[in-house]
Amino acid sequence: MTRLIFLGAPGAGKGTQAETLAHHRNIPHISTGDILRQAMQKQTPLGVKAQDYVSRGELVPDQLVNDLVKERLDEPDTEQGWILDGFPRKVSQASFLDKLLQEKHNHQVVRVVNLEVPDDILMARLLARGRADDNEEVIRRRLEVYREQTAPLIDFYRDRQQLISVNGDQSLDEVTAELLDVIDS
Ligand code: ADP
Repeated sequence: MTRLIFLGAPGAGKGTQAETLAHHRNIPHISTGDILRQAMQKQTPLGVKAQDYVSRGELVPDQLVNDLVKERLDEPDTEQGWILDGFPRKVSQASFLDKLLQEKHNHQVVRVVNLEVPDDILMARLLARGRADDNEEVIRRRLEVYREQTAPLIDFYRDRQQLISVNGDQSLDEVTAELLDVIDS
């Protein structure tokens, strides 16, 4: 059973690697960023509420993402496993997820992959990507928010011995190979 959380700064390659691995394992790749962007595009109630935060590089309020993750993990396609990408992004979300998974899976441990990439490389990758929320000022804010709110999750999960670190500063294929290697060991 593959149940993984992907951590890593914006630009670390979480989305790409999570998608590849999910495909490989035939399990859903659940990206809160993708779900929010789709909702914004369709202007659903969730999208309308999230819009302002996302375009400024801020985190959307916990309740919005917590609800969406809870609902998504209740879909039948998650029974064979899943990969969460972009959630949790702060300690309060990690606590919420913990409780949710305890109820669902009765204490089975979920593993957490941290993709490590040096700061200067992150900025270069994000500027090259050119998504709507990828202008320099917003990127800077997203990196700041990451350092303040998300990076503490690395220690949080390391202390609980759930953390697996992977060098994200390699070619896409090399990262995938390292990932496959560590999650099966
Ligand atoms: P990145 O490439 O920065 O990792 P994502 O696609 O994961 O971007 O997320 C894009 C944006 O969506 C974030 O900057 C944030 O505004 C919002 N978002 C995604 N996941 C969460 C979350 N778990 N909590 C709050 N906001 C989120």
